[in-house]
Amino acid sequence: MNYISTRGTAPVLTFGGAMMTGLARDGGLYLPETIPTFTADAIAAFAGLPYEEVVFRIIRPFTGDTFDDEELRALIEAAYAGFVHPARAPLVQMGPNHFLLELFHGPTLAFKDFAMQLIGQLMQAALAKSGERITIVGATSGDTGSAAIEAFKGLDNVDVVILFPYGRVSEVQRRQMTTPSESNVHALALDGDFDDCQARVKDMFNDFAFRDAVGLAGVNSINWARVLAQVVYYFTSATALGAPHRPVSFTVPTGNFGDIFAGYIARRMGLPIDKLIVATNQNDILHRALTTGDYKPDGVIPSISPSMDIQVSSNFERALFYAYDGDGAAVAQLMDELKAGGFSISQGALQALSDTFASGRVSEDETTATIRETLTATGELLCPHSAVGVAVAHKHLGTTPMVTLATAHPAKFPDAVEAAGAPRPELPPHMSDLFTRAERMTRVPNDLAALQSIIRERTGR
Ligand SMILES: *Cc1c(COP(=O)(O)O)cnc(C)c1O
Repeated sequence: MNYISTRGTAPVLTFGGAMMTGLARDGGLYLPETIPTFTADAIAAFAGLPYEEVVFRIIRPFTGDTFDDEELRALIEAAYAGFVHPARAPLVQMGPNHFLLELFHGPTLAFKDFAMQLIGQLMQAALAKSGERITIVGATSGDTGSAAIEAFKGLDNVDVVILFPYGRVSEVQRRQMTTPSESNVHALALDGDFDDCQARVKDMFNDFAFRDAVGLAGVNSINWARVLAQVVYYFTSATALGAPHRPVSFTVPTGNFGDIFAGYIARRMGLPIDKLIVATNQNDILHRALTTGDYKPDGVIPSISPSMDIQVSSNFERALFYAYDGDGAAVAQLMDELKAGGFSISQGALQALSDTFASGRVSEDETTATIRETLTATGELLCPHSAVGVAVAHKHLGTTPMVTLATAHPAKFPDAVEAAGAPRPELPPHMSDLFTRAERMTRVPNDLAALQSIIRERTGR
């Protein structure tokens, strides 16, 4: 399987190459040259299998020669061993035709663990073969960073450097990043917002001399291997509800468009998904883009669902690539226009997007009301991100079963949940000492050169 860039001019890579590289050298994102499909029988056979077996069947056609079957199975087993729920991604019924997919039973209590735990195993195995040493640099609005640190802490041949926006992540998120004591963990608090963090990471990847000197590797949601890992739970939940014999829709609390894009790939692989509904908070660039065709960032407004406080939604580029029929030059042109303030999606591409995607935006008040009302109606305590999803899903319920993705455990956002008028959620037992562990972090300016020198000093490269 070959991997190509959304902008059409970067070198073609293998699965292993695309996983290690993250951002392509032409600034684009890697995608498989072709998307393998499953027959209806093959999809029907997923129902009831152990989660790990479905992971194997789905990712195997994408990984090529990078791993042999036995090795891949062992890595998958190891990746999900730290999840506390035997189903890994259990489905809970919320009402007629409405289901919640709980993706928060991994080690850092957010859906990011599904991809990050797997990519940690896959990368370590690849590095053990090549003898290479890498520096993982990632930007986070909170959950990616903790998931990456948890997945890579203490591993050989890897330094993990995480940039998070100072003062804009929840205390639980911050402590999950700052309390691991392993010497290969570097939590950097940047003076800026998440888009600044993401922009500085992109700058580092585009500085090829620096990139090569420190062996830069990315595990942000642009990493293809992460998207691929997230494809799996669309299949497991849809088949549990009767796919491929009946279609299913999904509502996905969305920031960087990685999670919902995995749903798009599942649909291209043959899973009968009717609609994929983008749920946003007040930072609604994706909702505006999908309804008007204009993609224009206008500054982040902090919200109670901080992991979705994003105005430059990286993975949307992948959806654009398909909406423009794989025209890398057209995508590169749009991304140039974005640097100058924004772009308009062509009529044809907007039509192609609306065949698959719908969207909705939720205010802060609707989010808090949804937390209270859902608790009363179902007994389920939602995190604010999941509440955004449930509120949008309510506007799209019909005869097709709807699955709303619950992206984090409420205990990751206890202040917001309590302020919404719900009881303060408790951390699960395996993290109950989080607030007494010692913290370690470095505050950094929003400045590329300063960041690069800190990273070189920390990694000794
Ligand atoms: C990352 C995250 C999101 C957004 O996911 P994307 O893949 O960036 O769209 C939503 N909710 C939570 C809790 C997250 O951590």
